[in-house]
Amino acid sequence: MADLGLEHHAVVTVRDTEGRVLAVRFLPGAKDSRLRKRYLEKVVNLQKQTRVIPEGETFARDLWEKITNFNDYLAHWVSRQIVDFAALHGAKIIVFENLRNFRPEKGTRSHRLNQKLGYWLRRGRIVRYTEYKALHAGVLVVRVSPANTSRRCPLCGELSIERYTPGRENGNKLARCTACGKVKDVSADFLATENIFDRFLCVYAS
Ligand SMILES: [Zn+2]
Repeated sequence: MADLGLEHHAVVTVRDTEGRVLAVRFLPGAKDSRLRKRYLEKVVNLQKQTRVIPEGETFARDLWEKITNFNDYLAHWVSRQIVDFAALHGAKIIVFENLRNFRPEKGTRSHRLNQKLGYWLRRGRIVRYTEYKALHAGVLVVRVSPANTSRRCPLCGELSIERYTPGRENGNKLARCTACGKVKDVSADFLATENIFDRFLCVYAS
């Protein structure tokens, strides 16, 4: 089960047919996200100075190219890690959330740009590259509906998951259940893989 999160490039869990976790791999992404954010801030600053969309401007083209190359490099790296991890543990299927209908939430301008690139460009590319690499490794890739994967409590089934980061407002690093209270202080991205697995079972094992 592969969750492509904000805190991490991805959290990948290997599970048996009962859903028991056999192995976990976190691919931390905070450092790369900061680097991408710096590039984007430069673009936004250029936008402010010139009051034009810098995408077509020569002086900004270089920056956009850097971001694109960087995203491409990351997508190759992350997809390679996912497929190698699956192969190492003899996994036969890799499950992603289907992000085709995903829409980023509202935020500041650079935040929005960051999410746009982060979610639409990078995530889609990671899934495509993973499919390609998995094909060569003899591993199947499937996508399941992402509805509520980050909101549903895997223990009580309520849509009661709250995301937070200790000491920070609007953080989304950890997750807790406000209904049953049995889930607390777990990685939010890890929790999502729990729900991705449940969704996968519902669709493919019934
Ligand atoms: Zn609960």
